[in-house]
Amino acid sequence: MEKTGGRGTPSRRALWIALAYLIASSLWILLTDLGVERLVRDPVALTQVQTWKGWAFVAVTAAVLYLVLRRQFQRDRELLDLQQDQREEILRLSQFQESVIDNANIWINVLDQNGRILLWNKAAEKISGYPGQEVTGGDWIWQALYPDPDYRNWVLAQVDGIHLGGKEVEGLETTILTRDGNERLIAWNSRPFRNTGGEEVGSIAIGMDVTERRAAERRLMERERQLTTIMDNLPGMAYRCLYDDRWTMKFVSSGCHELTGYQPEDLIDNHRIAWTDIILPEHRPDVLEAVEQAIASADSFSLEYEILRADGERLWVWERGRSIEENSGLALEGIVLDITERKELEQRLSELATLDALTGQLNRRETERLLEEEVIRANRYQRQLAVLWVDLDHFKDVNDTHGHAVGDQVLRAVSLRLADSIRAVDTLGRFGGEEFIVVLPEMSVMEAEEIAERLRHRVADEPILTTSGEPLALTISIGVAVFPDHATTAEGLCELADRAMYRAKEEGRNRTAIATPGV
Ligand code: GH3
Ligand code: MG
Ligand code: MG
Repeated sequence: MEKTGGRGTPSRRALWIALAYLIASSLWILLTDLGVERLVRDPVALTQVQTWKGWAFVAVTAAVLYLVLRRQFQRDRELLDLQQDQREEILRLSQFQESVIDNANIWINVLDQNGRILLWNKAAEKISGYPGQEVTGGDWIWQALYPDPDYRNWVLAQVDGIHLGGKEVEGLETTILTRDGNERLIAWNSRPFRNTGGEEVGSIAIGMDVTERRAAERRLMERERQLTTIMDNLPGMAYRCLYDDRWTMKFVSSGCHELTGYQPEDLIDNHRIAWTDIILPEHRPDVLEAVEQAIASADSFSLEYEILRADGERLWVWERGRSIEENSGLALEGIVLDITERKELEQRLSELATLDALTGQLNRRETERLLEEEVIRANRYQRQLAVLWVDLDHFKDVNDTHGHAVGDQVLRAVSLRLADSIRAVDTLGRFGGEEFIVVLPEMSVMEAEEIAERLRHRVADEPILTTSGEPLALTISIGVAVFPDHATTAEGLCELADRAMYRAKEEGRNRTAIATPGV
């Protein structure tokens, strides 16, 4: 409708114009008649002038009428065109709206105040499985979508909150049961719906099917949780750090505390200490070089080095990692494990190769090797060298009476007494079974016999305490052979000492016998 612009309603405006016309034309007739009557005295000429005046009046009013009407008609035409354009625009808009409402995969429904469905778009049909023509106008859909009464009541309470409380709902998630029996999770945005008069007549709700998204989120969270569990239960620590000169940690798993004694946050951003400071200084150059090489050849790295724990203890660790390109530059990722136990085991294994497992003394191979060396040395420096062959007396009885385990304890106890009674330069080795050898460098026959007697007394004088309960009285028999007096080879010395020991046995045991040269 055309605005009046403060000039009154159309009929009043028309009335004013008509009135103005009436007054103007009356004044024109009156004044021109008066003027003409004064000027023209001749009645015939007067009639003619008045006729012309009448024509002139008609012509002027016709011209004015023409102009006014033409303007008005033009305006009407423009108005009609505008209205036509607007109608087309509105049509296009409503078609667009309809297609958006229907085709967007967004569930849109409009409810009246009583919860009856007024609008149910295509997406609502597609997601729920219930067609719009069945659903619209009724409220049975609530029961279908939410069969569980308690859950339905909760959902309807939310709807009432919108209708009665006038509140808006954002992101409210409900689980609906679709027509084909599946559950879908819908996230709702809903608000009161007002008519053109501004009065609340229901609500409009927009729903997004977030079933897949939530499931994906749950899977992601689950994976993250699993990863964290794995990380936290790693027998060491996992890390990610910048490849800078301090290996600035950006992530450290909780195993860090057990491994290093530092809390993860102590290491993050070098808050308390940097990883490169934890690496023992003597290992640092090797570690850094190995990592640099691995990065240069785009390889992963595997390192063993020692770290200094927060409590000052040293720890061997094994680290496996690789470099990764990040936006901020090169970073390192990997795990660090405590291998102290393995290192200790390695150490023990290499010792085992030379030691006897039961007594911890040198084993036969190592004793023979050392004896060979001593013989060579004695030969070179023209010095003497004694070999004592020690055998426990009636050891079988110990085993038979008290069992093999007690026999083992006796072997350990005797070996300790022997080891305890010799010098640092002397060598004690277990030759096998219950036989031991003692190598005594720079010893004459007499000195060696003295030592042998000392060993014999040491064993005989003090019964051995074992788990059998009672102290065991035990004796040993010893054979003595001396380089170069009795033999000049390691083998010869052993043989002669062994024979002398047998003689000691024959002579009644618990005694020392000296080898007889050349026999
Ligand atoms: P003898 O006085 O004649 O030496 O008598 P013996 O009983 O000691 O006799 P012999 O030397 O022949 O016996 C060695 C015994 O030592 C036989 C074996 O059962 C026992 N023996 C050998 N090695 C071990 C061991 O490692 N542990 C234990 N418990 N016994 C061992
Ligand atoms: Mg024996
Ligand atoms: Mg014996």
